[in-house]
Amino acid sequence: MNIIKTKNKGLLIVVSGPSGAGKGTINGELLKRNNNIWMSTSMTTREPRGNEQNGKEYFFVTKEEFEERIKNNQFLEYAVVHSGKYYGTPKDKIYDKLNSGIDVILEIDIQGALEIQQKISDALFIFIMPPSMRILKERLTNRGTESEEKVLERFKTAYKEINEFTKYNYVVVNDEVEKAVEKVEAIIKAEKCRVDRIEEVFLNNPEEKVHESLVDKDLIN
Ligand code: 5GP
Repeated sequence: MNIIKTKNKGLLIVVSGPSGAGKGTINGELLKRNNNIWMSTSMTTREPRGNEQNGKEYFFVTKEEFEERIKNNQFLEYAVVHSGKYYGTPKDKIYDKLNSGIDVILEIDIQGALEIQQKISDALFIFIMPPSMRILKERLTNRGTESEEKVLERFKTAYKEINEFTKYNYVVVNDEVEKAVEKVEAIIKAEKCRVDRIEEVFLNNPEEKVHESLVDKDLIN
């Protein structure tokens, strides 16, 4: 028998960072490498970009449909992010996954992250930081999926978002994807060892319990 039993529940991992910081690439790698991680697909009222498909990158819905879902309390969190567009995390599935021991990633903005902080106290908050604002601008421009005006709007939003990193538990600078993924994996591993994830300890009274159930008698004789 082990000395401690840790909670069997999955970890809710909130990943934020400005557009172009590389959250999507990092999360994609995490999913490929770890079969115990599931990523929630958000719902949005923005238009699909490039090759994006409904149900893959996002569920694309109308404003009316989104607002109907808000009324029916179907989101864990939601926010208006870019150009008045809604983005939200559908509630269904998340608790089932967590309760069956699967870690869940939410790739959401700072407003959503703050809402989750109020609701789920043991969630993990990771901020992905670009190496520099110049590199961020280049990444946004090179994506080539949006107009110059939209790129500029995202870049301005990025300035505001970067100031919020202190509200997160960890910050990972994405200068090299491989290294950034390793850091996120290390953070998740460390979180699983946190003392507050311990559910039960079988070592209350060393005089009695260790002797009876945990170790061979000759270890303490
Ligand atoms: P994009 O339009 O580039 O796909 O995403 C814009 C921003 O919306 C990103 O910062 C992304 O993390 C955020 N976002 C995506 N899904 C959600 C969501 O469900 N909730 C919130 N609050 N933000 C989201």
